[in-house]
Amino acid sequence: MFDLKIINAIIIDGTGSSRFFGEIGINGNFIVERGKKLGASKSVYDANGHILCPGIIDTHTHYDAQITWDSSASPSLDLGVTTALIGNCGFTIAPCKPEHRDLNMLNLTKVEGMPYNTLKKGIDWSYETYSEYLNLLERKKLAINICSYIGHSATRIWSMGEAAMEREATDSEIIEMENIVKDAMNKGAIGFSTSTFEGHNGDKGRPMPSRLATNKEISRLIQAMAHNGRGLFMITKSNKTTIKDIQNIIGNIKRPAMIAALFYNPTKKDWAINILNDIEKSSQKGYEFWGQVSCRPLTMEFTMNEPYMLEGLSSWKKYMTESDSNNKIKILQDDNFRKKVRNEIYDTSNNKLFVGDWEKVKLIQAANLNNKKFEGMNIRDISVKEKKDPFDWLIDNALSKYGMNDLFIAELLNAENNEVKKLLLHDKSTVSLSDAGAHLSLLCDAGYGLDLLGKWSRDLNIISLEQAVFKLTGKQADICRIPKRGKLLPGYYADMLLFDPKKVGTSKSFRKNDLPGGSTRLLEKPLGVHGIWVNGTNFFQEQTPNGKLIRSYLP
Ligand SMILES: [Zn+2]
Repeated sequence: MFDLKIINAIIIDGTGSSRFFGEIGINGNFIVERGKKLGASKSVYDANGHILCPGIIDTHTHYDAQITWDSSASPSLDLGVTTALIGNCGFTIAPCKPEHRDLNMLNLTKVEGMPYNTLKKGIDWSYETYSEYLNLLERKKLAINICSYIGHSATRIWSMGEAAMEREATDSEIIEMENIVKDAMNKGAIGFSTSTFEGHNGDKGRPMPSRLATNKEISRLIQAMAHNGRGLFMITKSNKTTIKDIQNIIGNIKRPAMIAALFYNPTKKDWAINILNDIEKSSQKGYEFWGQVSCRPLTMEFTMNEPYMLEGLSSWKKYMTESDSNNKIKILQDDNFRKKVRNEIYDTSNNKLFVGDWEKVKLIQAANLNNKKFEGMNIRDISVKEKKDPFDWLIDNALSKYGMNDLFIAELLNAENNEVKKLLLHDKSTVSLSDAGAHLSLLCDAGYGLDLLGKWSRDLNIISLEQAVFKLTGKQADICRIPKRGKLLPGYYADMLLFDPKKVGTSKSFRKNDLPGGSTRLLEKPLGVHGIWVNGTNFFQEQTPNGKLIRSYLP
């Protein structure tokens, strides 16, 4: 006798094998049998011929803070994600001493676009150590399964305080960090994450702590991670960091590495594909590296208060790190400053978020009433009308009354289907980069998995549904060494997604004012999704939380 039997399903099991029509029998949290005409069951769910596949495993989220006030990690679970990796890029909120809470929140506000008031109001700080944080998550009655990295930047702040954002670590500080990482791994972290990426700036525009680490420090922390033969290394790399550099950093530690963030850049056309090809070459030398790619254009809504697309520029730093508002205005008025920023924008020798494609930046909501007439237009066209250089118009407008609050949208990278396709289909890529839980007012890509099934598989026909499901589920579980998830096989957890292949996708994004402290965020809704089960419980029907904090991983 099963607890639950799902009948009339087209099963795509996440192994990459072909679909079959049949039934799945579940007892408690687990799948126990699959096939045709299974035995009796206490309850039966009719799938009506829709497709049943494993729940999506989202390997790049930033729900670390949100999960302490919202145990379903909304909107991801509704969008088919049953397991999320948190703590990417080194940005965990644990460990954290009480005196460092503010610094950690200010950093997350800047680097991941989580409103400060939301963090202040929302985070449950009833922990200090990493192990206490994991225990807290367990007490929260998670609705989604969570895997958590131990993050480099938080660890550095624990050991070094403010100095973490200013200098290299001493030997004794590194030893303390090694111990924190080892302990976190013993308590159930999935791995160790870090960032060397230029765009990752924290409080007062200073580099996030991990960016001040030497390669030697990172190597030692990877060794600490791997001390018991487990762990996934995650790095959001600087534009200068090559795959060879990562080989040197990881040395002879035989652990898998996730490398972010590989977007197609129209002005550096081969940049991302070359990295994947370098990863391919490194695999011949015995390294197991994976490049995180995205199936969505990188689109961001922003105001000039936080122009994320400019914040990776070294010339913009002067403005970003100035705290006095009068001085900030003076900097923006300075022609010399403008000239430097403009030159850096147009310099295409580096891979950057924005290279002056002004026609891809649109004004969507004018706070400055004089600009109402320009709503819906791009900056190239606006600046022609205003007879100004586009960058000058943007800055002059920011300096005008209310102009700082004009809302723009920029389609930055990854927009050409034919090029993105090559990244998605590459052997060494892994589909990811939702950044869910972060950049809350800029974007919402939590539904990327449904897009792979809808847009890329059904509409563009570049990948079979079986392969798309494999990339979102079984392959992720294999890379991340997550036991018994990502496949619909007997003995595996019943994390499942039921969808109509003709309709699957996501709604347009919309704004909702539902964050603690009263801030808005961008959200999207699933289309064509009929059921989501987490560890055998139908979350769609019952809304009963049945997620787990995952604490043990395969070697
Ligand atoms: Zn990230």
